[in-house]
Amino acid sequence: MGMLDKKVVVIGSGIGGAGCAALLAKEGLDVTLFERNAFPGGKAASFEKDGFIYDTGVHAVGNGEKGPLGEINRIVGGELKFNVIPSGNRIIIGDGEALLPLQYSSDEAIMEILEGIGVDSAKRGDCFRCFKELAAEKSPEDMAVLDEMPLKDFIDRYTDDSRFHQMINATCALLLVLTYYQGSAGEFIHCFSEAAKNGSLSYPVGGMGAVARSYLDAFERMGGNLIFNTSVESIVVQDRKVTGVALADGEEVVPADVVISNAGLQPTVEMVCEHLDENYKSWALSLKSSYGAVSVKYALNAKLIEYPLTLWIPDVRDKNMFDKYVGVFYPVPSNMDAGLAPGGCQLVLAGAVTLPDPENRELCESILSKIESTMAMLHPDIEKNVIWKIKTDVAYIARISGRKLGEVIGLAQDYRQVGKNRPNPRLPVSGLYVVGADAGGRGIGTEMAGDSALNVSKMVISDQEKN
Ligand SMILES: Cc1cc2nc3c(=O)[nH]c(=O)nc-3n(C[C@H](O)[C@H](O)[C@H](O)COP(=O)(O)OP(=O)(O)OC[C@H]3O[C@@H](n4cnc5c(N)ncnc54)[C@H](O)[C@@H]3O)c2cc1C
Repeated sequence: MGMLDKKVVVIGSGIGGAGCAALLAKEGLDVTLFERNAFPGGKAASFEKDGFIYDTGVHAVGNGEKGPLGEINRIVGGELKFNVIPSGNRIIIGDGEALLPLQYSSDEAIMEILEGIGVDSAKRGDCFRCFKELAAEKSPEDMAVLDEMPLKDFIDRYTDDSRFHQMINATCALLLVLTYYQGSAGEFIHCFSEAAKNGSLSYPVGGMGAVARSYLDAFERMGGNLIFNTSVESIVVQDRKVTGVALADGEEVVPADVVISNAGLQPTVEMVCEHLDENYKSWALSLKSSYGAVSVKYALNAKLIEYPLTLWIPDVRDKNMFDKYVGVFYPVPSNMDAGLAPGGCQLVLAGAVTLPDPENRELCESILSKIESTMAMLHPDIEKNVIWKIKTDVAYIARISGRKLGEVIGLAQDYRQVGKNRPNPRLPVSGLYVVGADAGGRGIGTEMAGDSALNVSKMVISDQEKN
């Protein structure tokens, strides 16, 4: 049987699944994608309400056209476009405030940021050197060491300035959705230095949902078979090799030579549980996820906020800071793509990080109300201009991604879980792979899922060529 006769099933149409399916269809493989939701994109989907197009999450894309999401689009001939988010993004730490330029690796820009956020003038030189190191690419040998180092330990080597520590901790929460006690220095430096090099912080035209949608449009144009509202219940394995998937709505088994799961590593392990040895299973199931998030989405009948993105963080020193409210991140998508709100109106998405367990309903509710009071304090006219508000909690994220937890990213880029300890996208069952933010890539959420799609599609082709 030639490679092009092999049947590939992809489970899930998040950015990882949609990207990988389109990349394999482009290589001429026979690919079917099953998505349990009625819509594509998983955590990065968009919906329309009263002329506003709002995202499920609270998103920005680190490198847009110049990152993996743009690369997939070019390879598959998709129609995805990005708008570069203009400079003028605000970061507010306590009473310090700075505007982040896109090219934040320049010496003048770094000094302005440090001054703006209130770094002690005697310590600015050390913080400057640390910032430069964070924004500089590293050799693979250095990255292997940094991957397994907590980000806080890296910062401690340079400075004890409290404001600087808070700024990096808050930025770690934004990029990895972890505290800097847990976040890997290597993963953070990868994200931070790529963004500094490319100066291309972006937002997809048409909302975040446009990413998966454009990959899937290209997938279908190339003959891919896309099926919504269909959940894969289990993966069929014979002699430690995949032979198909069983669908949830009946007895039907769909034959497959290759199964690529975008459902997450742990749910995939559970689908083939009896075919895995105990050591692998208990290791995979013990891995930790990133934190979760809640959000308040505001449809406004006036343009009230001039900044494209704001991060407002009063204090982030506590080790367990996400079991309480630490502050808010609020992109204004209609400032980046005017088509996302009717004329004269504005769309604002305000999110805060919290624990990922959907059982913590009271915590979610209290953080949602704190987001609303912060937004009313920072923008006193906001409440009287509301057309509608939608509040989402971690249970909502769990629902749209089909997982038990409502984590923002996927498996955590914790210093104990990356580098050589990062899960391999090849499971120990022949023909079975995981794609998406859980395995196979580096970067910030959506871009890690895209990087994984690029890497896993190459892995599948190379394995099939050998068989
Ligand atoms: C509030 C919030 C804010 C975020 N902000 C940012 C940001 O600013 N920048 C950024 O880059 N990233 C951000 N992210 C993270 C980013 O959205 C995710 O990391 C990324 O989209 C994950 O993609 P994925 O491919 O791993 O799959 P997911 O999005 O998890 O999609 C998995 C898909 O598989 C489907 N599925 C699961 N099980 C089955 C099954 N059994 N059968 C069929 N289908 C199944 C699901 O329905 C879903 O569609 C944010 C996320 C959230 C929630």
